[in-house]
Amino acid sequence: MTGDAAIILIVEDEPPIRRLLRTTLGAHEHRVVEAPTAKEALSLLRHERPDLVLLDLGLPDMDGKEVIQRIREWSDAPIIVLSARDLESEKIAALDLGADDFVNKPVGVGELLARIRAVMRGRERRFSAQPKFQFGGLEINFPARRVLVEGEEVRLTPREYQLLRILAGHAGQVVTHRQIITAVWGTDTHADAQFVRVLMAQLRQKLEANPASPELLLTEPGIGYRLSCEE
Ligand code: CA
Repeated sequence: MTGDAAIILIVEDEPPIRRLLRTTLGAHEHRVVEAPTAKEALSLLRHERPDLVLLDLGLPDMDGKEVIQRIREWSDAPIIVLSARDLESEKIAALDLGADDFVNKPVGVGELLARIRAVMRGRERRFSAQPKFQFGGLEINFPARRVLVEGEEVRLTPREYQLLRILAGHAGQVVTHRQIITAVWGTDTHADAQFVRVLMAQLRQKLEANPASPELLLTEPGIGYRLSCEE
């Protein structure tokens, strides 16, 4: 792999969408391999060892969610799911099964490339822990547990800090309500998505210049949140 170039496996049964993805990714120096069925995808995964999988959930021979399970039985290649905008429950199920993120259909090219960059960077981050996160006016110093906005220290409660930490650990990627609840309240809890919304409102008050129209802590309606890391 040189620079940002990667081997990307496209799993999609519709030829026009495959063509669009191939052209887009090829133009950004990614090497593309394609599978129109789940069966071919699982075979290519073994033989090509892609750096990333773009997976359509509606395939002719297998449910996309089952494909995720099959991939996760032995591979931790990042998976970005391609899904219809209004199918929140399908996206949540895919993320819970181990997908890393999703892109809504019809696929926006800029959004897709940003998602790919974010999951690839996320991988690197997990393998080389960085003591600091910095984006725009926000700086998080993890060892010191310090958070600064425009150079000024901001005091967070332990739960606010845990919420920010899990989002920063997946910067640019979606984090589901369930992932947040587990990270902040643990598994043995009655906390639900409403708890997350209240905590997020508090965090936005402290970090956002205009909490009513956030630029850092973005909402993914019905699914979770995303910490912005792209200009
Ligand atoms: Ca399809």
